[in-house]
Amino acid sequence: MEFLSGRARLKAGDRRELYPHSLQFYLEAPTENISLVEFESLAVDRLKLLKAVENLGVSYARSSECYKTKLEAELRKLKFPYKALAEDDYEARRKDHISHFILRLAYCQSEDLRRWFLQQEMDLLRYRFNQLTASLRQKFLEYVNLSFEAVSEDLKNELADELCASTPGFSMIKVKEQMFYKVGLADAVDLFRARRVFVMEGFAYVPLKDVDAIVLNSYRAKLSKALALTARSLPAIQSDERLQPLLKHLSHAYVGPDYSVQKNAGKISLEEIDALSVRSFPLCMRQLHRALRDSHHLRHGGRMQYGLFLKGIGLTLEQALDFWKREFIRGKVDADKFDKGYAYSIRHSYGKEGRRTDYTPYSCMKIIMSNPPSQGDYHGCPFRHCEPELLRQKLQACKVPPAGIAQILELLKGMHYQLACQKYFELTHEVDDVGFSLSHPNQYFTESQRLLSGAREGKKEPSSPGNSQQKTVRQESKNVSSVPTPSSTAAAAELEGLEAYFTED
Ligand code: SF4
Repeated sequence: MEFLSGRARLKAGDRRELYPHSLQFYLEAPTENISLVEFESLAVDRLKLLKAVENLGVSYARSSECYKTKLEAELRKLKFPYKALAEDDYEARRKDHISHFILRLAYCQSEDLRRWFLQQEMDLLRYRFNQLTASLRQKFLEYVNLSFEAVSEDLKNELADELCASTPGFSMIKVKEQMFYKVGLADAVDLFRARRVFVMEGFAYVPLKDVDAIVLNSYRAKLSKALALTARSLPAIQSDERLQPLLKHLSHAYVGPDYSVQKNAGKISLEEIDALSVRSFPLCMRQLHRALRDSHHLRHGGRMQYGLFLKGIGLTLEQALDFWKREFIRGKVDADKFDKGYAYSIRHSYGKEGRRTDYTPYSCMKIIMSNPPSQGDYHGCPFRHCEPELLRQKLQACKVPPAGIAQILELLKGMHYQLACQKYFELTHEVDDVGFSLSHPNQYFTESQRLLSGAREGKKEPSSPGNSQQKTVRQESKNVSSVPTPSSTAAAAELEGLEAYFTED
């Protein structure tokens, strides 16, 4: 395959022509050739950015200084355009453009993915639009055919009384401070209907704070339509054997370590697992452990999810065989059936059979986005897959206070499953700020252990009974900024093959 890049040939004038503004509605798809390596790296960086947007949007008010400072820092770090005034930030604009279209391909594949992508892109655009200077904002509006004319200072002063009376929440001082735009009635129909705007000679006089809502509405409509159209062309894209696994991986991807390295092997004993499941397991693994102890069996989805998690926290192959066998033979499976039917698949997941792949524990995105549980299953993410009432009961059983349960359920209304899990971490560890961005059940475990062993500061004194009996396991903190590489993509694809070995219920 030939890897070309057209950008080296572009002169400065051409570059400016290609991206005249730092901000765009992403109406034209990129046409240059890029390598698969760059394709994946651009996509992973945008995914990191959108995850930061999601996290910040839940942690801070979007208009707060803290939100703006942190988001700017994230844009700088990932080298996306952050200063609208920068003369030649061609590379950043190009990255912004191409990476948006790649994730559009990856995130058009289901209703859930589309909704998540749309929400984060909208928040990103809102922030970036509000960062523009008045003149750049004007240029951008013209560029995207929303040519609203800024009301001159003289005219604004002349109409100050009317603007103040017709714009809810606006005092005379605020009218003087804010910019107003002359907007055609068709674009301001919602404000007009709600009588929230001053109208004169066929134009609505809209304050800046409401113009951003009009811009976002227009962007939402365009992006929703584009996502639906992209989804229709998916079959053609999926037939490309180079892109298909990359896109599938990206939509399940998370941007953290894959916990495949058995650094922790042998660091926990089987006797510790019950206590650890209460203290340091995320809710998904805690419920799997409980179900296993209660029914002495898990169906294959549960064995896959839980078995690889246990491997990630340090169970050796010998321990895993012992652990599953001890539990299964207390149920309906005898030792002989276990050795013939289940032991092979456990050895396989440790890379000792078949293709000898060292399989990695599932990330949150994989658990949330694939293989939803059916009746009798215990795998999946309780924050994504449980009915609110059932989840409430589970949280009550975990001694989460009612106010905390309400906060978690509120987060779920916005489909912030991992943020709900972070809140669960805060409440069950009695910390004010989780201090990390959750993307993996094994990360949850590692962070919990760091906190409980005192390696991380910020923990309040635990108050729940029995805490003193819980033993913490030392685990190395991992570098959360590592990214999936093409090889991890291959591993993810191979993982699908492993599931065939676990089909026996
Ligand atoms: Fe498990 Fe992740 Fe869901 Fe938390 S968000 S319960 S760690 S899958």
